[in-house]
Amino acid sequence: MSPHTPIDDVTVVGAGPAGALAALMLARRGLRVRLVDRARFPRPKLCGDTLNPGALASLAPLLDVDTLRPFGLPLAGMRLSGPGGVTVTGRYPAGLTGLSVTRLVLDARLLDVARLAGVMVEDGVVVRGPATGSGVVHGVRIVTASGEREHRSRLVLGCDGRASALARACGLAHTPRSPRRWAFGVYVHGVQGVDPAYGEMHVRDGSYLGIAPVAGGLANVCLVLPRLRAAGAVGRPWEAIRDAVAADVLLRERFADARLASDPVVLGPVAVDVARAGVPGMLLAGDASGFVDPMTGDGLRLAIDGAQLAAAIAIEVLEGRLAADAAASALATARRRAFAAKWRFNRGLRALVDAPSLVRAATLAARAWPGAFEAMVRYAGDARLAA
Ligand SMILES: Cc1cc2nc3c(=O)[nH]c(=O)nc-3n(C[C@H](O)[C@H](O)[C@H](O)COP(=O)(O)OP(=O)(O)OC[C@H]3O[C@@H](n4cnc5c(N)ncnc54)[C@H](O)[C@@H]3O)c2cc1C
Repeated sequence: MSPHTPIDDVTVVGAGPAGALAALMLARRGLRVRLVDRARFPRPKLCGDTLNPGALASLAPLLDVDTLRPFGLPLAGMRLSGPGGVTVTGRYPAGLTGLSVTRLVLDARLLDVARLAGVMVEDGVVVRGPATGSGVVHGVRIVTASGEREHRSRLVLGCDGRASALARACGLAHTPRSPRRWAFGVYVHGVQGVDPAYGEMHVRDGSYLGIAPVAGGLANVCLVLPRLRAAGAVGRPWEAIRDAVAADVLLRERFADARLASDPVVLGPVAVDVARAGVPGMLLAGDASGFVDPMTGDGLRLAIDGAQLAAAIAIEVLEGRLAADAAASALATARRRAFAAKWRFNRGLRALVDAPSLVRAATLAARAWPGAFEAMVRYAGDARLAA
């Protein structure tokens, strides 16, 4: 980006799904949009790689979802196991599937679609924080070899993920005291018994391990550990996953021949609370606007829908129908209307993981009343949005 770049309508920071899709919508509206990301694309991202049926339905108006299918595996539902080895299977309603597709592929594809719509994409660009004046964000501060420089735009969209530099610099985000969990993820060859049609979630005492089949015969394995158990494991993520598996009667045998297919990645604490949806001149979307827990596998759906809500409010502001200082509360209202029930459900599940006796009771109940468990899998998978 040259220091003489003219002011853009919108600078979108973060080219994950939230940023790419918000930028796409704004560019399709004819706005001048710049999308910057510190990473070089294509890039991997620690994630369970599962688009639930609701996420696919939310993507459909924005791009041809069928172009993703050759790179992924259709998922018919989820399998859950609890402590004590009880396993239950929940299927999405007939005709509905999710899609397992790596973030390397998904995010690069979304970025291509944004580029084609006219978004100016610049990767390898690190944003340090917002540029502000008189309490209003009027651009971003970009890290350069010689220090920092400002890039101005009429509006900034912060889509820079859970550790959002923009949200934190504006005092909007903080790491909650509880839960404090760390995620460890890796691609693995040779895990036995992976059904290509089902994602798996194995919930244990305060922790959980997800397995998703991905194209090429690999398994995406994500382990989430509470703070005390994560503390000694952060520097040795593969060993942490192997230790968790070795201590588990249900998983031990299945990982006997497992071999690394990628470098393991760690991130945490996973959860972030965000007080407001933005400040004058800046709106937040995706994980930058708050992240509950990866257990329900709906972060992508919330990022896709949250990006559309943020882009719609941004359009109102840029076309003069909404005052800039009313935008954040308008976005917060729209987000509450769209997501409040799902947030409550996710917080309930998050609390459940912390209570081993409840998890045990819940998995036994799910085995006794499979219909109730299927209803939960459908709700977690946002199947009602796709029906
Ligand atoms: C362990 C784990 C498993 C998960 N599994 C699933 C799953 O199976 N299904 C699902 O739906 N969701 C899952 N999620 C949630 C999902 O990954 C997120 O909700 C999703 O990535 C949010 O997208 P985003 O665009 O908001 O942020 P991100 O995808 O995190 O993108 C943010 C982008 O911002 C860029 N960026 C950050 N800081 C800066 C900066 N200072 N300057 C410039 N660029 C910057 C980053 O490089 C990145 O590309 C999981 C999450 C975790 C942690």
